[in-house]
Amino acid sequence: MKIVNPATGELIEEVQEDSAATVAKRFEAARAEQPKWAALPLSDRIQCLRKFRSLLEQDMDELAQTLTREMGKPITQARNEIKGTLGRIDYFVEAVADVMAEETVLDDNDTGITEKIQHEPLGVVGNISAWNYPYFVGGNAFFPALLTGNAVLYKPSEFATLTGKAIARLLHQSGVPEAIFSPVIGGGDAGQALLEQPLNGIFFTGSHATGVKVAAAAATKLMRIQLELGGKDPAYLCEDVDIKSTVASVADGAFYNTGQSCCSVERIYVHDRIYKEFTEAFVQEVARYKVGDPNAEDTYIGPLTRPAQLDVLETHVKQAVEGGARLLLGGKRLERKGNYFAPTVLIDVNHKMLVMREESFGPIIGIQKVGKDDEAVRLMNDTEYGLTAAVFTKDADRAKRILSQVRAGSAYWNCSDRVSPRLPWSGRGHSGIGCTLSTYGILAFLQQKAWHLKR
Ligand code: NAD
Repeated sequence: MKIVNPATGELIEEVQEDSAATVAKRFEAARAEQPKWAALPLSDRIQCLRKFRSLLEQDMDELAQTLTREMGKPITQARNEIKGTLGRIDYFVEAVADVMAEETVLDDNDTGITEKIQHEPLGVVGNISAWNYPYFVGGNAFFPALLTGNAVLYKPSEFATLTGKAIARLLHQSGVPEAIFSPVIGGGDAGQALLEQPLNGIFFTGSHATGVKVAAAAATKLMRIQLELGGKDPAYLCEDVDIKSTVASVADGAFYNTGQSCCSVERIYVHDRIYKEFTEAFVQEVARYKVGDPNAEDTYIGPLTRPAQLDVLETHVKQAVEGGARLLLGGKRLERKGNYFAPTVLIDVNHKMLVMREESFGPIIGIQKVGKDDEAVRLMNDTEYGLTAAVFTKDADRAKRILSQVRAGSAYWNCSDRVSPRLPWSGRGHSGIGCTLSTYGILAFLQQKAWHLKR
């Protein structure tokens, strides 16, 4: 498999993809080793994760450079991802003991009956990951999976393979046995080979289209399944906002990571009283973004990771303009090496346009005028997706009223594109099933045993 730098088109390295036979062998090794890992005191597993955390911190610059080289994330954002991962590890190691603690739910002296709930690991789980935040989306699954005593077969995306290999190397260096955390290297074929194993659970992050295939493959095996899928996340700006600070915040929500976040703002609705002022200020803000070499400290927009996405963005722009949208900025590939697309702002869009319906996953945004809150709610809900939704207003009650009616797993008031380890991360509809992060995202890797004890 060729690993290509998306900023230059140059070959970085060729790696060997894992065959189905290799994946099956790794599964058998994981199954044999997992009970020993689960039988360790929790403090030993926590110790491994603490060691991993310190290695991440120590090697941060080099790891960030690897991520930037293989998927084009601007270097400051690559470092931010690794820094954020330290905080996620801290959360999981703090929270896991309470979540796993045995619970006594009845202790009756009259009947002599005691009832207890015990939490057991699932066993061997698969984790198929996306490339856009490999540390975050992978770690959301494999940190709690390992802490709770599971073995993990981890398939990084083919666009973040070197990072996946680095993660595996550092976990092994931290004391996690090789059989307990095995990388599976390759693309869709390697993912399919993984799904052929009798796993006890599959934890997937990626597109809705692949998520449906993963669900179908898992269905006949009756394994636990969790899907973190795409989004078409809306932000609604009411007429009472401070335009300057809101523009900066919403633009960052839309364009950070070159717009390649599952929770990027992908659609903006603006109250008609501030529409003109807002769109003008928004274009000025986005025009300021430095586009270029992702290794440069001041680059904010890098290349797209997947070359095929350039065609998707071009189609979104073309179809919107043909349908009457006005292109205020960008709208085309940049004439330079690499997968660069100019930051793009379209206004006067509507819901017949792909840019307001399909996940764009790039530096492009559509802005639509609305007259009333009810209209905004209707449009925000006019999607199969339901990952996050944002409302910007000075009025807390109004934000709560609107966000309560929007079908989304995360509700943002005066912020967007934000993930907290303390809160559950989940989607509605085509955005997925199950949740990661928070205590619920730890419970996802456990199954409960009911103890009926008679004295
Ligand atoms: P993708 O669906 O193309 O690939 C995801 C993973 O699935 C990769 O590792 C890929 O190799 C593997 N795969 C592909 N075909 C497979 C098959 N038939 N069987 C098994 N595995 C297979 O998605 P992507 O391009 O890597 O990621 C982008 C998508 O992920 C976007 O839609 C984005 O919104 C979503 N995403 C969601 C979240 C979330 O938390 N909800 C987070 C990050 C990304």
